Amino acid sequence: MAKVYYNAEGNTAYFQNKRVAVIGYGSQGHAHAQNLRDSGVDVVIGLREGKSWEKAVQDGFKVYPVGEAVEASDVVMILLPDEMQPKVYKEEIAPALREGHALMFAHGFNIHFHQIVPPAEVDVLLVAPKGPGHLVRRTYEQEAGVPALFAIYQDVTGEARELALAYAKGIGALRAGALETTFKEETETDLFGEQAVLCGGLTSLVKAGFETLTEAGYQPEVAYFECLHELKLIVDLMYEGGLEGMRYSISDTAQWGDFVSGPRVVNEQSKAEMKKVLTDIQKGEFAKGWILENQANRPVFNAINESEKEHPIETVGRELRKMMPFVQQQKKKEVAAVAK
Ligand code: NDP
Ligand code: MG
Ligand code: MG
Repeated sequence: MAKVYYNAEGNTAYFQNKRVAVIGYGSQGHAHAQNLRDSGVDVVIGLREGKSWEKAVQDGFKVYPVGEAVEASDVVMILLPDEMQPKVYKEEIAPALREGHALMFAHGFNIHFHQIVPPAEVDVLLVAPKGPGHLVRRTYEQEAGVPALFAIYQDVTGEARELALAYAKGIGALRAGALETTFKEETETDLFGEQAVLCGGLTSLVKAGFETLTEAGYQPEVAYFECLHELKLIVDLMYEGGLEGMRYSISDTAQWGDFVSGPRVVNEQSKAEMKKVLTDIQKGEFAKGWILENQANRPVFNAINESEKEHPIETVGRELRKMMPFVQQQKKKEVAAVAK
């Protein structure tokens, strides 16, 4: 088992006489900044003018253009969208970096795939909470935390590890526990998980199930409930108790169907394809495609995004969710929390 680091192993005294610049004030940015501040850390925010800037000022932070925030700090946490980071890094962050600065990330993509090449004289590390920003903030306020991964890429000062643990403690992650990883492992497993299982695998599974039922003449509304809506109940059970906990709660008929039919749907062929997806990630093929897609202003991304909105599962879902105000309310609450 991997070693798990808890509060006793992190010391926020590390931040005495040090200032942290949080660059970006979105999902992760607002949560890191507020949690660190509540942990007694001196935090400033680096941004461009706009919505986030106004929000950060309202929340009582000193906000500066990115370069000025970097200059005024010792530790720089980059919480911009991953696709924006190389440009902002090159134009605004790199010119303001000096020896002894620590450069931090919450995802390894740009360092691992060399979209950002940091100078040799700064520490480079990551602290990546395993949850969305609003949860990072909410759990902190509840005296708990979201677990995190941390990794050291470059340790010039010899203090990178101490900083990683102090930072993880400051955002509340050591209350839940942090695991050490590498930039390579964090990046490749994150991409694989979202592609094969969490996002790509799941949406394809849901659509295929919905299409199979509706093509056989069943009502789309019923197919929506069976293949999408009820997923949340199952995932919640898995989240709480693993596969065993989920299977304990479903009927024996459902469990028998799970055993005999599941492996027919996701089978050796699917697993062989997953291995190819992983190879593409490891070889940098996926990253290359995504970087080029962004450079071309996302023609394929935008086209698929539009056509997906018109899939029958989406049109029927939009209507059905109007019947379920509790679903709507939940959604609004989460959006409000993200924007907080
Ligand atoms: P968001 O999209 O939520 O926030 C991005 C922030 O960056 C906004 O405040 C935005 O401000 C600002 N920004 C965008 N462009 C610029 C620019 N050119 N100059 C200055 N500021 C800019 O990002 P996330 O919090 O989702 O992601 C940040 C990092 O955290 C990424 O590396 C991501 O991989 C990682 N991460 C994210 C998780 C998540 O659940 N979201 C989980 C774990 C890691 P504006 O209002 O002006 O657009
Ligand atoms: Mg990801
Ligand atoms: Mg059922």
